[in-house]
Amino acid sequence: MTYPALAGRTAVVTGAASGMGEATARLLAASGVRVALLARRAERLEGLAAKIVADGGQALAVPTDVTDQASVDAAAARVRGAYGTVDLVVNNAGVMLPNPLDHGRIDEWTRMIDTNLTGALRVTRAFTADLLAAAAEGRTADLVNVSSIASHVTFPDYAVYSATKAALTQLSAALRSELGPRAVRVSTVEPGLTATELGDHIDNPELSEQLGGMFAAIPALGAEDVADLIGYTVSRRREVNLRQLIVLPTGQA
Ligand code: NDP
Repeated sequence: MTYPALAGRTAVVTGAASGMGEATARLLAASGVRVALLARRAERLEGLAAKIVADGGQALAVPTDVTDQASVDAAAARVRGAYGTVDLVVNNAGVMLPNPLDHGRIDEWTRMIDTNLTGALRVTRAFTADLLAAAAEGRTADLVNVSSIASHVTFPDYAVYSATKAALTQLSAALRSELGPRAVRVSTVEPGLTATELGDHIDNPELSEQLGGMFAAIPALGAEDVADLIGYTVSRRREVNLRQLIVLPTGQA
């Protein structure tokens, strides 16, 4: 599926090295969007950019660590230099590192907060002026934050991950009240179980197995399903804000 209404727009997608970010970047590029690909793994981004270009699209690999302010600033300058004003930002980079809270894994807590929440804030900070300028010129301007069903439902051992996503959902709602009156749409996408690399970084064998059991029991969403929802959302006419979208596998509902 592509969304021709998006042709000519300029996007930044974080976490574009895999999963939902990669699928979203592909869909946007296939719809005629110029896409800046942000994540840490340069070779993944370069491979994806090459595929997009080979398919006739436009993409720029911009290796970036969203937990590093200087890296985000450099990425913003590079994207603006190559593509001009950005009118679509997808804050998708994230990590999920579950463990019982009483294990006291402050290393994991810090990484999740820095990536899922502060990272999204850094990227938002870097591109808000672009979104406002695009909207002021009469262009459609979107900020999409990829949160999670975990922002609404509690799962034991996922407390800090859930807290980062609840914060991101609330941040989006607050931002909507600041940016909506200036014609910048803010949308929150909250997926359930989706087959990606997200679970690969879990270092607790029991919890890793538990997640594997969920994938075995429930036919999960694919990254393309979430990308399609994002494409649909940002291709509505600019007066229409699909502001908060929960998408679950049918078997998880
Ligand atoms: P993936 O692990 O496949 O993708 C996560 C992406 O984030 C990777 O491209 C990774 O690339 C990037 N990333 C991680 N840390 C950083 C960083 N510090 N700086 C820049 N990029 C970073 O998983 P998903 O596609 O599933 O995850 C996408 C989003 O969806 C996440 O925010 C996740 O929380 C959310 N989500 C996922 C669900 C699921 O079931 N899969 C359900 C609900 C929400 P690299 O390592 O190269 O930096």
